[in-house]
Amino acid sequence: MPELVSNSLGVRCEADSLVRAHSKRELLAALERVQRTGEPLTVLGECSNTVLLDRIEGLVLRPAMRDLEWCEDDSVVAGAGISWDELVRASLDRGFCGLENLSAIPGSVGAAPFQNIGAYGRELADVLRSVHVVARETGHEHRLRPDECAFGYRDSRFKSIDRDRFVIVAVEIEFNRRPIDVSYRDVADSLEGSSPTAPAVSRAVREIRGRKLPDIVDHPNAGSFFKNPVLPTDAFDALNEQIDIAGFEVGRDAVRVPAARLIDSAGWKERGNSRVAVWRDQPLVIVNRGGARGIDILDFARRIRDDVFERYGVRLEQEPVTIGVN
Ligand SMILES: Cc1cc2nc3c(=O)[nH]c(=O)nc-3n(C[C@H](O)[C@H](O)[C@H](O)COP(=O)(O)OP(=O)(O)OC[C@H]3O[C@@H](n4cnc5c(N)ncnc54)[C@H](O)[C@@H]3O)c2cc1C
Repeated sequence: MPELVSNSLGVRCEADSLVRAHSKRELLAALERVQRTGEPLTVLGECSNTVLLDRIEGLVLRPAMRDLEWCEDDSVVAGAGISWDELVRASLDRGFCGLENLSAIPGSVGAAPFQNIGAYGRELADVLRSVHVVARETGHEHRLRPDECAFGYRDSRFKSIDRDRFVIVAVEIEFNRRPIDVSYRDVADSLEGSSPTAPAVSRAVREIRGRKLPDIVDHPNAGSFFKNPVLPTDAFDALNEQIDIAGFEVGRDAVRVPAARLIDSAGWKERGNSRVAVWRDQPLVIVNRGGARGIDILDFARRIRDDVFERYGVRLEQEPVTIGVN
C-alpha cells in the first residue's frame, strides 16, 4: 500500500512504503530489508527542508528514536526523532546556554547535522561534540567528531560527499562552550539593553522569526529557499557597482552576499502566480499559495535563479533537498 508523505511546503506525495524506526533494532531491520530487496531508501525527518515531487520510489525511513540522555558534564545525547525545538526548550529549562540562537528552527534532531543548521550567528557545529551514525550498507555504528563531518555553511559530508551513506541516529551537544552571542543586530536591538541571558536571546529570536517568517500552517514554505552565495572579492566589487549590497568576508578574497537582496532588487518580492510566490517580508522564502506541486515550486525557483543570474551573474543554489520523481 502506498503511503502519503507531506512536507512543510504543503505538498503531498506517495511513497511505496514507509517505516518509522523507534529503536536501533528497528532501524537495522529496515536497513537489512533494503539490502535484501534492493529497493531504494530515502531517509526523512519532518520534511521541513524538502521539495517533494509526486512519488518516492522504494522505502521511506523515518528515524524516530527519542532517547534523551543528559550527562553530568553539561552535555546531552539526543535521539534523531526528537524535534529540534523541543531539545532547545529542554536545554533552556535546564539552565544551559548554547542553543538559544537556534530556537524555533523546524525539523528533527537527526536532520540538524545534515545541513549544519544555523541562525542568528550560531551553527550546530559550534556546539556539537559528536554525531552518532549508522552506515546504511553495513549497519555499523560510528561516532563522528565535528572535524570529521566536513561542516560548512548549510553543508556537511552528509549532504555532500557522503550523501546516502549514513543514517544519523543521535547528536551529542556540549553546552556552555561559547559565550552568549548577540552579534546579530536584530537580536541585540530586540533585547533593548536588557541582560543577554540564554532565555532572553531565545525569546528575542522567536519574536524576530515570528515577525519575519511565514507560519508554515497558513503559508506553507521550506524556510530559506536559496543559500547566500559566496563571490570572489572582485566579483563582489563589480556587483556593488550595480546594486548596493552588503558583504561578509569569508576567508581570503571571498565575500558572502545576501541572496534575499539579489532577489528583492531583481523585483521578485511578493511576485508569483496563483500557486507559488515569494514571501512579502523575506524574499528568500517561497510559499505555496495552494495547490502547487513540487514541480511548480521548482519551475518558479528556476525562473528566479535564471533572472538573478542574467542580471547580476550570480548563481543561486537551492537549499532544500529535492526528493522523489514525477
Ligand atoms: C519556516 C522554516 C524556517 C527554517 N529556518 C531555518 C534556519 O533558520 N536555519 C536552518 O539551518 N534551517 C532552517 N530551516 C530548514 C529546516 O528547518 C532544517 O533544515 C531542518 O534541519 C530540517 O529538518 P527535517 O527533520 O525537517 O529534515 P527533512 O526536511 O526531513 O530532511 C532534510 C534532509 O536531511 C536528510 N535527513 C533527515 N534526517 C536524517 C537522518 N536522521 N539521517 C540522515 N539524513 C537525514 C534527508 O534525507 C533530507 O535530505 C527552516 C525551515 C522552515 C520550514
